[in-house]
Amino acid sequence: MEKDSKNTIRTRFAPSPTGELHIGSARAALFPYLFAKKNRGEFLVRIEDTDQKRLVKDSELRMLDLIKWLGMSWDAKPIYQSARTSLYKEYARQLVEDGKAYFCFCSEERLEELRKKQEASGVPTGYDRKCRNLNPAEVLEKIKNGEPHVIRLKVPESGKISFTDLIRGKIEFDFHNINDELLLKSDGFPTYHLAAIVDDHEQGITHIFRGEEWLSSVPKHLLLFQYFGWEPPQYAHMSVIVGKDKKKLSKREGSVSVDAFKSDGYLPEAIVNFIALLGWNPGDEREFFNLKELEREFDLAKVNKSPAMFDIEKLNHFNAHYIRKMGEKELLEKTKLFSKVDFSKYDKSFLQKETKVIKERMVLLKDFDELSHYFFSDIDVDKEMVKFGKSEWQDTEIGLEKTIESLAEMDDKKWESVDDLNHFLSEVVTVNGLKNGDVFWPVRVALSGEKFSPSPAELIWVFGKEESLKRLKNALNKIK
Ligand code: GLU
Repeated sequence: MEKDSKNTIRTRFAPSPTGELHIGSARAALFPYLFAKKNRGEFLVRIEDTDQKRLVKDSELRMLDLIKWLGMSWDAKPIYQSARTSLYKEYARQLVEDGKAYFCFCSEERLEELRKKQEASGVPTGYDRKCRNLNPAEVLEKIKNGEPHVIRLKVPESGKISFTDLIRGKIEFDFHNINDELLLKSDGFPTYHLAAIVDDHEQGITHIFRGEEWLSSVPKHLLLFQYFGWEPPQYAHMSVIVGKDKKKLSKREGSVSVDAFKSDGYLPEAIVNFIALLGWNPGDEREFFNLKELEREFDLAKVNKSPAMFDIEKLNHFNAHYIRKMGEKELLEKTKLFSKVDFSKYDKSFLQKETKVIKERMVLLKDFDELSHYFFSDIDVDKEMVKFGKSEWQDTEIGLEKTIESLAEMDDKKWESVDDLNHFLSEVVTVNGLKNGDVFWPVRVALSGEKFSPSPAELIWVFGKEESLKRLKNALNKIK
């Protein structure tokens, strides 16, 4: 079906490139992305880089790389506001001509003094509108003389403006409390307010998703839409994300940057799943959703306005799940970046078996080496560890001897199944009148050198006949 461009739903991700992509900004991309997909709309990207003082070089590129890494894509080339300054200037001037904005010549020093006075006398801070009613001839004269100036929005002195937020419902603002906001700065750069409104209009944005900290900007934005005679978009202000201490997560906390999660070995699937549930829920017990499923299921009516809790345990739970679900080959490929093991030195089937066993225990990709070091290096078995708590030394010795004997003779076919190997070990126990602890425990320790490891049958399965026998014999010699 052809898309009707007029009725197409368009959302956007509008980051300011001032540092890392943190979890909150990733959600400010994910929700509008999902909403656009769900409604067969378009998801656009706009880089809000007009605040020259706060820019961090190339951070928008890193942010966009991470958005892509998470699996999202956008429907048109990103636009950069810094390349569009003359456009914003024109729009600002148009507002002045229409009497909806005005030139202001107040110096920084005057504004600073004003603010201090207001603070001292306990009144709300804000511009006192000194320049709002200058006569036109005077304005012209000052401009001609090259006096530095800004352009400010003319906010009505009284009255109210209201709108219905798609997450929060109806919200009303009193103009009386709203400042004559800056639209154009003295360096000719627009403020966020002006540039965002012009671009939301020019990009045909129909739905805006952003954090609730932007709520107080809405009356100014709606006023601007009204002044320009443009239809305003709908707004959905997402809840704050709080830590376990109920305090707002800080942007500056390295621990919530998507890049830091990536370097620790979190998978994009897990992060996306986790972020989706920061405010949205499917309305039932399901918790695992990949991006494609989210694109189908995301429903604005199920987005919550109460604070979303950031719980790292939950993210770990998702990551472990997606690691377990991944094929061994793919997992090995991803693990390479985190491992010191030279995989090229090992047999493919050994590596795949090893990964199959280890992935059940991995939470992060970087866990691989710690969990599997004994597969890739010789071990020095601690003699005392070989005997299980309640077992006798003699039975332990017999257990190992019998395992070695029977393993050496075992039909090759049995090596192919962990269940068969498990069964085999149980047989060694019963046939020789031993206890589980006389066989399973020493075999585990002989092969891994550890108290905690995959099961003894899994270890044998991974190592294969030759290496298993070698390790079992080593341990037997040690305790003899
Ligand atoms: N550039 C703003 C930010 O960094 C975007 C706010 C908005 O979406 O309107 O969050």
